[in-house]
Amino acid sequence: MTMNLGVSDNVAPILKKLKLFIQEVVIPKEEAYAAALEVDRWSVPPIMKDLQQRARDEGLFNLFIARNGQTYEQVDYAYLAEQMGYSEIAAEVFNCAMPDSGNMEILARFGNDEQRASYLLPLLSGDVTSGFAMTEPSVASSDATNFMSQAKRQGDQWILNGEKTWVSGAGDPRFEFILVMCVTDGKAALDRQQSVLLVPTSAEGVTIKRMLPVFGYDNAPHGYAQIQFENVAVPADNLIGEPGQGFEIAQDRMGTGRIHQCMRSIGAAERALSLMTHRARTRHAFGKPLSELGGNVDIIANSRTEIEMGRLLALRAAWSLQQHGLENALTDIAQMKVIVPNIALAVIDRAIQMHGGTGVSSDTPLARMWASHRALRLSDGPDEVHRELIARTEFGQASVTYV
Ligand SMILES: Cc1cc2nc3c(=O)[nH]c(=O)nc-3n(C[C@H](O)[C@H](O)[C@H](O)COP(=O)(O)OP(=O)(O)OC[C@H]3O[C@@H](n4cnc5c(N)ncnc54)[C@H](O)[C@@H]3O)c2cc1C
Repeated sequence: MTMNLGVSDNVAPILKKLKLFIQEVVIPKEEAYAAALEVDRWSVPPIMKDLQQRARDEGLFNLFIARNGQTYEQVDYAYLAEQMGYSEIAAEVFNCAMPDSGNMEILARFGNDEQRASYLLPLLSGDVTSGFAMTEPSVASSDATNFMSQAKRQGDQWILNGEKTWVSGAGDPRFEFILVMCVTDGKAALDRQQSVLLVPTSAEGVTIKRMLPVFGYDNAPHGYAQIQFENVAVPADNLIGEPGQGFEIAQDRMGTGRIHQCMRSIGAAERALSLMTHRARTRHAFGKPLSELGGNVDIIANSRTEIEMGRLLALRAAWSLQQHGLENALTDIAQMKVIVPNIALAVIDRAIQMHGGTGVSSDTPLARMWASHRALRLSDGPDEVHRELIARTEFGQASVTYV
């Protein structure tokens, strides 16, 4: 079968329009957005609502999943995600930011009609946000079989107890519900013990214990939190899919989510390269532009080449998922998830170096981008776990509990 990694004719005009919108509408507002956050860290700057309305008016809102549940082909959406990675605020402008986009996908695929009406539609409006909670502070969470949070059935309710950490988006004032991975049957087969429970953040017993910065960055107004669930009672109907389907749901979500995140990282690496080349040509030292000093041309050439390599790997993963389904795309996705964040990190690091002291200041987005890409080598599974899957596949021993 021919591997077609190009954007389709249908989506090419949307991609062009999206790129232009990001360049002409979103990027010019980045500074004002950051300035508004300096005044009030945990409110959503009104500028975001304005940008979202403009995206709606242009037919660019909810690009990831439309109201009728339709989605783009994986390869097409990968190109759109790359553009959104070019600006740190773009994904939210188009209502395509994680973890909401992943949760939209879960609700669209595994939710029942009532769950879709009560939770998916509000997410699609852009007025509410959500979280996805797997990681636990007291266990090594790269091994999903370790999770200990438990939901016990009592009559027509589930009673949830446990603690989750690094819940992305938990500081957002619009944060309304969390999809929580929890043990619902400790006696079932290892890959059938966990389920996904939808927990409203207003439920009694849900407590944000603390917010977690990344290298000192609070990622306001979204943030990351450690959350305790103490005797939280939710209706039995809040279970997503079937009891015991947790790993399958998480794997499904992570498959597409990792591709989108990696394509956004390619977009971020493109931004870093563009800042680096501009700096190299406009800043002078020792009578020459930086671009003519030392090994700087090699640095720029290598960065361009590595970005192209990473993009191809990510597009191949998207194509495998599209053509052959998740099961057969897992190792392609794992290879991409190891390589792309490391490439983005290397390019951002070189761009920081080319900027001198300015590179580590807040005068460019580079320092923040470096911090978030360093964290990306851990979130959605550390590099080593994905390497293990790649190697085990070579040995013919892939694991069913890899999420
Ligand atoms: C910014 C950020 C956002 C996040 N967002 C979310 C979120 O929204 N929801 C959520 O549930 N979680 C989230 N996480 C958590 C993230 O997914 C976990 O941190 C990650 O899965 C690793 O789990 P752990 O921290 O318990 O590390 P551990 O499991 O304790 O692993 C520690 C280290 O052990 C080593 N290791 C582990 N397994 C292997 C192996 N098989 N081979 C070799 N070495 C190995 C690796 O070096 C690894 O980094 C986020 C994390 C960060 C940093």
